[in-house]
Amino acid sequence: ARVTRYAPSPTGFQHIGGVFAALVAERTAVQSGGVFYLRIEDTDQKREVEGAIEDTIRTMNKYGMNFTEGMTGEDTSIGNYGPYKQSERAEIYETFAKDLIKKGLAYPCFATPEELEALRERQTEAKVTPGYYGEYATYRNLSPEEAIAKIEAGEKYIIRLKSPGNPENRVEFHDLIKGETSFPENNQDIVIIKGDGLPTYHFAHAIDDALMGTTHVTRGEEWLSSLPIHVQLFEVLGFKRPEYGHIPTIMKMDGESRRKLSKRKDAESAVSYYDEEGYPTVCVIEYLLNIINSTYEEWRAENPTADYHEFPVSLDKMSKSGALFDIIKLNDVSKDVIARMPGEKVYELYTAWAKEHDKEMYDLVTANEAMAKAIFSIDKEGPKPRKDFAKWMDVKEKITYFFDNFFYAETVDQVELPKGMTIDTAKEIIAAYKEAYKHNEESQETWFETLKNFAIELGYCANRKEYKANPDAYKGMISDVAGAVRAAVTHRSNTPDLYTIMQILGEEKVQERFEKFLA
Ligand code: GLU
Repeated sequence: ARVTRYAPSPTGFQHIGGVFAALVAERTAVQSGGVFYLRIEDTDQKREVEGAIEDTIRTMNKYGMNFTEGMTGEDTSIGNYGPYKQSERAEIYETFAKDLIKKGLAYPCFATPEELEALRERQTEAKVTPGYYGEYATYRNLSPEEAIAKIEAGEKYIIRLKSPGNPENRVEFHDLIKGETSFPENNQDIVIIKGDGLPTYHFAHAIDDALMGTTHVTRGEEWLSSLPIHVQLFEVLGFKRPEYGHIPTIMKMDGESRRKLSKRKDAESAVSYYDEEGYPTVCVIEYLLNIINSTYEEWRAENPTADYHEFPVSLDKMSKSGALFDIIKLNDVSKDVIARMPGEKVYELYTAWAKEHDKEMYDLVTANEAMAKAIFSIDKEGPKPRKDFAKWMDVKEKITYFFDNFFYAETVDQVELPKGMTIDTAKEIIAAYKEAYKHNEESQETWFETLKNFAIELGYCANRKEYKANPDAYKGMISDVAGAVRAAVTHRSNTPDLYTIMQILGEEKVQERFEKFLA
């Protein structure tokens, strides 16, 4: 069983890359029967954004992340290894830092910004690797007495690791996503405790992942280059290192080239975008599973009704080079997911969204609940349910014709007639059909049979081949007649099953619409 975590820094509002990373960690833990926990990495207090922690927790809950431990509410200690908020763990990091100092593996460094600047200049001139290391690490060799005297005199300091590494040695490393990598050992005396007494990311994450029992770390690939430091920290601290998998950054096509999905430039990078547009969270998740493992699509086709939780996420099948974000694909996946939802569920999710984002539609739909549920249930049967909406924002345009206040506000030029048909021809058809129309047919089939016979009598052709061979003998195809009826009843040329629509509207309204069409 795996223990994984999502460990965001509250430096901004959640973006889709965060949900992506959390999903990878959550799925792999839950699938293995393990533990998934949330840890807030708030040791960079200058960069902290107010409300970011609450936003993270809200987002994670909304996206159905099953945290078994961690900071999932006000309480920072659900589980046995808390607190799960790093700023509340300062003493723990301090204890480990002191212990390293005692063992001669870390030291207080009193270098001022001026001293560091001078060092940088010297190193540039000497054309050596910049940084605080080896012979350049002036404060490495201060005696304990000297250090204590400086601290007592009130000099500012940070704590650095006394790196035992030698860059001439290489460390081999197997990354769960990226595969084999190797890199030179770290020899920089990295900062472990900052001037404000809080730890750096490197130090804090190593201690926490060890104490919290993390077995598998999945995190953004921007941390891959820090591996030499992390490998070393685990060794120095005497901890067993977890396995690492570095998640490729989400990319986007920009013209011909790929670039990172950008918080600044791309609206779809913010999680709030999906709320606003009304993408059901399950659709976003299924889309993300598609970019996590390209095998998802095939799995979904084979298991059309399975819950996405049943899909086995696999780290070694992830793209190494970068997941490509594509809104068209998101819409495809989303349409598919919504199409498979029962009408009741669509109603429930749509009204929940509309309540926040479209009060007019919310009022309309909830005032006509039974009708709305019937509308959302059209064409759900069979292996290929109708795909009408990618997101709740699309619903309005697709269903308002059912409602008189919208329908009767539409003008003639909004009516979509069958290709090539004039309004006069359409009116002729409707005038006759209005009389022939029987509302209480036995079924869709008998209704269509009646419509077909009506159309043939009117001079329309039932067979495409025949029509093509002799177009002058007919006024058109049966589908033209159905199209005219559709136009009269809905003003649209593309709708779900017309028979069902007319049943939902009821005989009176259908007749009213015919009349209005003829007026
Ligand atoms: N706090 C780090 C970040 O937000 C987490 C990296 C990790 O998961 O270890 O980038």
